[in-house]
Amino acid sequence: MTDLSGSVVKDVEGKDVKCGGGWNSPDNHKQFIMALGCLVKARGQNSPYEEPCKYCVKIYEELGEKTGCDHHRDGMLFRRGDPTKHQDVINEMKKVDKSCATYKSNGDCPITPWDLMKIRSVLMSTGSLQDLQMYVMILIGIRLFLRSAELVDLKISMVDGSKKNLLNWKTSVFTPEGELTGLTFDIMGKKDPKPVSLVLWRDEVVPEFCPLRHLLAYIFIWRKLKVVICFHQQEHMG
Ligand SMILES: [Zn+2]
Repeated sequence: MTDLSGSVVKDVEGKDVKCGGGWNSPDNHKQFIMALGCLVKARGQNSPYEEPCKYCVKIYEELGEKTGCDHHRDGMLFRRGDPTKHQDVINEMKKVDKSCATYKSNGDCPITPWDLMKIRSVLMSTGSLQDLQMYVMILIGIRLFLRSAELVDLKISMVDGSKKNLLNWKTSVFTPEGELTGLTFDIMGKKDPKPVSLVLWRDEVVPEFCPLRHLLAYIFIWRKLKVVICFHQQEHMG
């Protein structure tokens, strides 16, 4: 696998990340066919699938006229109709179903604390701000059970007037000595009608996994650079 600049993507152990093609899960191709069917329907292509007419194409190529052959008065120069109902596609899908019959889904594999420790060692050893940000994002995502879109959208200050996925100082928790023990974020989840307050607690047992310590270090470094902090600025970090 390569990234946008064409460099080979490595995993945390420095090995090349490899991707395999092909249909393994029968559910994947059902989803694909359904999505394609919806797209075709939205474009008003409900008729049976047809290839361009070779006679219409020939007339167009030779005379430059879009008036078609005897069968197609308005010219049949492009394919049209719903390919998902075409016999070739139906036959192919039957074949895929057969070859996937023994497929068993593995389910998602959670990251173990040992995996996380390995990831931390790599990201914290490079001295790169981008890697520190990545580790902070991983910790916050794990602690607050965030979806990736919510995590990427988190804001430390109100940069665009938006009040969602924002740090909330008012309900954050401090010790009597003024030490921060819990930071509140108001998160707008996918199905939430209004933002829900989630507290990111300090972890005194395993400081290496403490999201607050790492987040505050990250904010401290960014503040020195005098920029507005927001995770989705990653692409500007250089
Ligand atoms: Zn024709």
